[in-house]
Amino acid sequence: MDAIILSIGSELALGETIDTNSAWLAQRLAEIGVGVLRHVTVGDDIEPIRRQIEQACGEADVVLITGGLGPTADDLTRQALAAAMGVELVLRPEWVEKIRSFFACRGRSMPQANAIQAQFPAGSEPIENTCGTAPGIRASLGRSMVFAMPGVPREMREMFERDVRPMLAERTGGAVLIATVLNCFGAGESDIGQQIDDLMQRGRNPTVGTTAKQGVIGVRIHSRGRSAAEARKLLEATEQEVRRRLGTLIYGRDSETLSDAVARLLVEGGKTVSVAESCTGGLIAKRLTDVPGSSRYFRAGLVTYANEAKTMWLGVPADLIAGHGAVSEPVARAMAEACRRLNATDYAIGVTGIAGPEGGTADKPVGLVFISLADAAGCRVTRHLFGDFLNRGEIRERAASTAMNLLRLRLMARGGQACSA
Ligand code: ATP
Repeated sequence: MDAIILSIGSELALGETIDTNSAWLAQRLAEIGVGVLRHVTVGDDIEPIRRQIEQACGEADVVLITGGLGPTADDLTRQALAAAMGVELVLRPEWVEKIRSFFACRGRSMPQANAIQAQFPAGSEPIENTCGTAPGIRASLGRSMVFAMPGVPREMREMFERDVRPMLAERTGGAVLIATVLNCFGAGESDIGQQIDDLMQRGRNPTVGTTAKQGVIGVRIHSRGRSAAEARKLLEATEQEVRRRLGTLIYGRDSETLSDAVARLLVEGGKTVSVAESCTGGLIAKRLTDVPGSSRYFRAGLVTYANEAKTMWLGVPADLIAGHGAVSEPVARAMAEACRRLNATDYAIGVTGIAGPEGGTADKPVGLVFISLADAAGCRVTRHLFGDFLNRGEIRERAASTAMNLLRLRLMARGGQACSA
């Protein structure tokens, strides 16, 4: 089976809003073995929408439309679909009541304009929207099944998962494509690629590919099978092999972040952490507290940006700073050690560096960052050159991720899991 995805909205056509719906839908369709012929974005004009619907219905088995089902004058998908089908819109009173009760549950009365959302092309079927007012529409046109869903990503996703996916999956006879991504940190994309290059050969099933974003390398595995069980079995075998080769470079899978991985290890080990930050300005404290339940392991974060603040709050000797500079190994060390002592935590991180764009010298270029990690066994400082090709925000993000990763590796080593930190 193949599909065409139409996203409706002038804000999308103008590039003011990024069309995330099509990408998300294409991924979900792949999971149930439906290929996507193309994505089309159309502004809020009835004729172009109608033309695109007609054209898509001449070509694809499935046409998925998102957006333009709202109550306002620029929401024209239902009218365009009715025109393409050559039928009238018909008011379904029971759906007026459903929309009315959606408002009532939130203590509001239904604006009259919303009644249009209870109109459907004759011969089509409504699809319930449990998190918004716009019901979806299911219809047949030409050789295609047509599904029109709301534009709001959360509403569209919920509707697709609950109603549309099962209907399509039934037609594809169980063929599936499943995917997982193993998230890695601590090596470049080409290094990682080299370690798994034979698995990345084209034509293999599962396919393996890499993506890179802010230092995180994602190893994507896509597995095809005639059934979910077959696809999963193939995927698991490849995943195991990738894990065997990449070891502790992998910190998590799918949506798991470095923060999640660190939080899990801290909680499992019953350990606490505090941070003393300079160039990251609180970013590491933010990362450590991104995860619900972070009070179990996070004690405090100090942003000691000025030299005087490092001395006043952490007791870093002024002459140490004067002698070595604020961005130096001894100052980073003193920050983590003092932070750990003052906050009585198992671990403490210290960070000092030059995020730029100004302030770099030949000796200490933009992108130079010292990261210290103190625990009961002592304090280790690492020097990082993130490179002046990164901008200020990227250097700060990279420094925060590197610090989180160093803590992750230390926690794994202490927990008895093999690692090189
Ligand atoms: P509702 O009645 O809930 O407004 P709708 O079907 O009318 O639903 P739209 O008005 O088209 O939806 O879009 C609602 C919101 O969702 C807008 O903020 C829009 O930018 C966003 N949106 C619409 N389509 C997409 C898309 N393809 N990708 C990402 N966001 C989208």
